[in-house]
Amino acid sequence: MTATPLVEVRDLVTHFTHRVGLFGTRREVVQAVNGVSLDVAARETLGLVGESGCGKTTLGRTILRLVARTSGEVRFDGQDVFALDLAALRRMRRRMQIIFQDPDGSLNPRLSIGRAVREGIEVHRLARGAEADGRVEALLAEVGLPAGSAARYPHEFSGGQRQRACIARALAVEPEFIVCDEPVSALDVSVQAQVLNLLLDLQARRGLSYLFISHDLAVVRHVAPRVAVMYLGRIVEHGPSDGIYQRPLHPYTQALLTAVPVPDPKTKRARVVLAGDPPSPVNPPGGCPFHPRCQHPGKNESCRTVRPELRELAPGHQVACHLADR
Ligand code: SF4
Repeated sequence: MTATPLVEVRDLVTHFTHRVGLFGTRREVVQAVNGVSLDVAARETLGLVGESGCGKTTLGRTILRLVARTSGEVRFDGQDVFALDLAALRRMRRRMQIIFQDPDGSLNPRLSIGRAVREGIEVHRLARGAEADGRVEALLAEVGLPAGSAARYPHEFSGGQRQRACIARALAVEPEFIVCDEPVSALDVSVQAQVLNLLLDLQARRGLSYLFISHDLAVVRHVAPRVAVMYLGRIVEHGPSDGIYQRPLHPYTQALLTAVPVPDPKTKRARVVLAGDPPSPVNPPGGCPFHPRCQHPGKNESCRTVRPELRELAPGHQVACHLADR
C-alpha cells in the first residue's frame, strides 16, 4: 500500500443479479468483484491485469461509482465516494475520469471531435465561448492531433487518433485520476506504443494518477511501477512491477508471464498453458479460486478447501497462495 493514497479501495464487493432461462425466470448472481483492497497514490500508475472476465473492468467502474457496489468502501481524496449526494458526485466526477477500450464506441459519430471535447468543459462550467474554443484547440494539440481536428468527425480519423480524441475529452475537465480501461488493446500494435507514451507524457506534465487496466502484462510493465493481478474477482498478487515480473510468486501470475515475449532471444521461458477457461463468476470454486487450473506440484487439500489470503512475502509484495514462498 502507498503512503498518501489518492484512491483507497477497501474490501470492495460488486455482485450483479441477472435473469437467465428461456423466460428469464431464474436469477443468477455474478460475483464480479469479491473483496478487493488497493490504493493509488497521487501521480502514480497502478497496473491491474488479468484475463478477460476476471472483474477488472467492473472494479474500475465501481471505483468511479458508474456501477453500484454490493459492499466495501472507495475513498477519493479522503471522501467516501458512495456517500456523496448527486451534486457532490457530479463535482467528484470531474476529478475522476475513464478512457474506454473502444474509441469508436465511446465517441458519438454525429458529434465533431471539438464538440465531444467541449461537452465536459461546458457541463462543468470550466469555460465558455472563445475561451472554451481555445481550450479545445489546446487539448487537441496536446494529445497530438493536427490543427483543424476540432471541426472533423470521428470517422475521419484513424483508430489511434480517435483514442487521442478520447484522451483529450477526458482531460478537458482537468481530472486528477483516470481509469484507463484497456486503452490500447483495440489499436494496431504499431500505434499502441505511441498512445502509451502519450499517457506517460501527460502523467508527467499534469501529475495524473492512473488505474491502468489490461490483459497484457507487457503493456502494463511499460507504464506501471506497481501491479495487481486479478483472478475471478480477487487480487491474487500485488506489488512492485520489477519484483513481480522478475520473480512472480503466484502460479497464475507465473503462467501469465510465460506468455509474455522476452526481449533477449537467448533467454527461453517454458510456456505454461492454463488449462480451460476461468470458472464462472456465478459459481466460483471454494478454497483457492485458482485451484481447478493450478499446476503447482504441491497442490493439496487446503487449496481446495481454504481460501488463501494475501500475505506479504517481500517488501510491498503480497501473494494469495498457500504454497508461495520467497
Ligand atoms: Fe495453486 Fe494452491 Fe496456491 Fe491456489 S493456493 S495458487 S491452488 S498452490
